[in-house]
Amino acid sequence: MTRKVIPLIDSRSFLPPSLPSILETPTGLIADELGRPLHDLRISVTDRCNFRCVYCMPRAVFDKDYAFLPHTALLSFEEITHLASLFVAHGVHKIRLTGGEPLLRKHIEKLIGMLSALKTPDGTPLDLTLTTNGSLLAKKAQALKDAGLNRVTVSLDALDENIFQRMNDADFPVADVLHGLDVAHQVGLGPIKVNMVVKRGVNDQEILPMARHFKNTPYILRFIEYMDVGASNGWKMDEVVPSAEVARLIQGELPMQPLAANYVGETAQRWRYDDGIGEVGLISSVTQAFCHDCSRARLSTEGKLYTCLFASAGHDLRALLRSECSDSEISSVIGQLWRARDDRYSELRTQRTEGLAPAPKKVEMSYIGG
Ligand code: SAM
Repeated sequence: MTRKVIPLIDSRSFLPPSLPSILETPTGLIADELGRPLHDLRISVTDRCNFRCVYCMPRAVFDKDYAFLPHTALLSFEEITHLASLFVAHGVHKIRLTGGEPLLRKHIEKLIGMLSALKTPDGTPLDLTLTTNGSLLAKKAQALKDAGLNRVTVSLDALDENIFQRMNDADFPVADVLHGLDVAHQVGLGPIKVNMVVKRGVNDQEILPMARHFKNTPYILRFIEYMDVGASNGWKMDEVVPSAEVARLIQGELPMQPLAANYVGETAQRWRYDDGIGEVGLISSVTQAFCHDCSRARLSTEGKLYTCLFASAGHDLRALLRSECSDSEISSVIGQLWRARDDRYSELRTQRTEGLAPAPKKVEMSYIGG
């Protein structure tokens, strides 16, 4: 019998990125091979999560024997802030903390305080946000706000208790996530977005109840197409509910119109209800890939830079940080890596799902940061 080996994290022992012979001074205007700027940085602060969502960290793989990263492998708050400051000098103005479940990282509000002190080269504060499953939000919202967090995005895949618990596979009740949302709103962590990953045959019957529930609330509901991230969720194209289908379904009951994007690179296509009350977002990462606008870099829990959510290898910035490298050298490496970036995995996915090219191995979303 052959054993299937799943690359959960990028454990290959790559050499650290080589240092450029000419050092550069960041201009804040860097662009990659396809002309895309570096605007957003997603930082995974832990590879651990207290949920076992079937499409992200299935229990069969992330079980009690799963070897999560040891604490010494994680970037410290000082290291994260140090690297973030170098990215900000290259043009990053939005930082999202993610994971794993970022609120599981001890004293996360301390990191938020450190990051909120960073400013873009023209002196503007960063847009500092965090994606969470909401389980610890009620408890932590005030401390997060006080530390300088601007807003949160909360994942919620169903209102029906059975469906939600089947999806999170951790017996976590819907009411506690809804309470977390309300506390976050009360303390001013808004505008708050609610992310629902739609998986056909699992929670697609919750599309309308979720739309109805969130329509008259301060929260912006976004439907995300189930993606082929990582290698452990057994993704199949026929489990994806295309955004166009979600839009048709909602429009049948709650008429709505598409809105113009707020900014280039916005992941969600925004729709406003015809009665003027509320909006929803549709994130069509599979059926209408938006690689051409992607300005996101990802920093993994152990400090590897990934230039695409679907990348199979990262660049070890932690090794540089923990060596004798100067800021100017690390900054030049970041510049060199971004300029060489030509990733557009999702735009090429269609060819792969049709069997025209083999899929490359990918690391898990919990490690690289969702
Ligand atoms: N634990 C946090 C949470 O639940 O929001 C942050 C990490 S989670 C990986 C970030 C986001 O990625 C969540 O909204 C989650 O639903 C989404 N996600 C994870 N796996 C996905 C997949 N296969 N397709 C689409 N979205 C996915």
